[in-house]
Amino acid sequence: MSVASVIHSETDFDVRKIREDFPILKQQVHGKPLVYLDNAATSQKPQVVIDAITRYYTLENSNIHRGVHYLSSQATMAYENTRTILKDFLNAASEKEILFVRGTTEGINLVAQSYGRTFFKEGDEIIISAMEHHSNIVPWQIVCEQTGAKLRIIPMNERGELLPDAYEKLFTPRTKFVSIVHVSNSLGTINPVKEMIAMAHCYGVPVLLDGAQAVQHLTVDVRELDCDFYVFSGHKIYGPTGVGVLYAKQELLEKMPPYQGGGDMIRSVTFEKTTFNELPYKFEAGTPNIVGGISMTAGIRYLQSIGIEAIGAYEHELLEYGTEVLSSIRGLRLIGTAKNKTGILSFVLDNVHPHDVGTFLDVEGIAIRTGHHCTQPVMQFFKVPATSRASLAMYNTKEEIDILADAIKKVMKVFS
Ligand code: PMP
Repeated sequence: MSVASVIHSETDFDVRKIREDFPILKQQVHGKPLVYLDNAATSQKPQVVIDAITRYYTLENSNIHRGVHYLSSQATMAYENTRTILKDFLNAASEKEILFVRGTTEGINLVAQSYGRTFFKEGDEIIISAMEHHSNIVPWQIVCEQTGAKLRIIPMNERGELLPDAYEKLFTPRTKFVSIVHVSNSLGTINPVKEMIAMAHCYGVPVLLDGAQAVQHLTVDVRELDCDFYVFSGHKIYGPTGVGVLYAKQELLEKMPPYQGGGDMIRSVTFEKTTFNELPYKFEAGTPNIVGGISMTAGIRYLQSIGIEAIGAYEHELLEYGTEVLSSIRGLRLIGTAKNKTGILSFVLDNVHPHDVGTFLDVEGIAIRTGHHCTQPVMQFFKVPATSRASLAMYNTKEEIDILADAIKKVMKVFS
């Protein structure tokens, strides 16, 4: 029996119907039904996203913002409409606060280079956490090199939870910025970001949230959180690669210089002087990923049609099931056991290297990720070279978790 044909959760969540919307899930890998558990690396795409890409190139393709002809105005309208959808999705105050970027990585680099390079100076301090993805470490290290600022790190405990008291102690009059991950990609921890933002604001310090692993699982309301910057990638929220969003408060964007120069971001250019375009275009130099923006929002609308709360609840049920099943395997240690988690099951096995686990599971048709997950400091903290990580999405099932558990037991037998 195929995985798709056996699923029925206790909840009303109709996983079988959802799986039908993702054509890639129907295929076999190495003669076995594909069990795709690498969603934190990238999610699969529903048919509506694939259709949006095809429709764009079939009917709408044209460069935006510059043309007066029919196709250009159609493409411009479609693209700008996606900005409004994204504004509503994050509950931002205005479309001026929604910038299209290449993804989370570019969004953070933009803030580091535009805000950080302008406002940090020698001796200033930037707070990040012990569980950051490299893309929320390296851009800050680069701007520290350029300005003489220093990084301060919020520590975590053995469950993979940040320590609030230690966080508060890091604030000094030199603290100029906080940049933290909303949900950890290697541990699954959901950080108490609302409280952390409120604390930073008590010290007058702006906060960036890396939402790459959050927006697809939790409702994010940037005004309720009161974050100053929020970034995420389209490809982890059922959209295409190469496009993402940077939300920023308008008052901050007004003060920040452009990140890149080129077409579209200018008002007028002479050899003597250039004046910049209004927000958000001041930060969007060159032809953007038009089809990416349009199809990313097709993915977000799809997710909204199912309901982010229903998705979160279903994924939580899967996480609890997966935690129970994997914890019962002798010789398996879960890495990342925070009380508040999304569907990340990172683990190590006694005497088996994670890369061997990944290779063995692949033969069984199971896609997981092995390695440091771009969080080498997390691996150093837990004293492991790497982990195996199964990461869940709305289309995964308990049966797939059983298939994973059986395959892990087989690996252990082979290597024992
Ligand atoms: N931050 C986190 C928490 C992530 O999981 C990722 C992707 N693994 C990134 C940042 C970087 O995202 P991207 O490669 O899409 O820019």
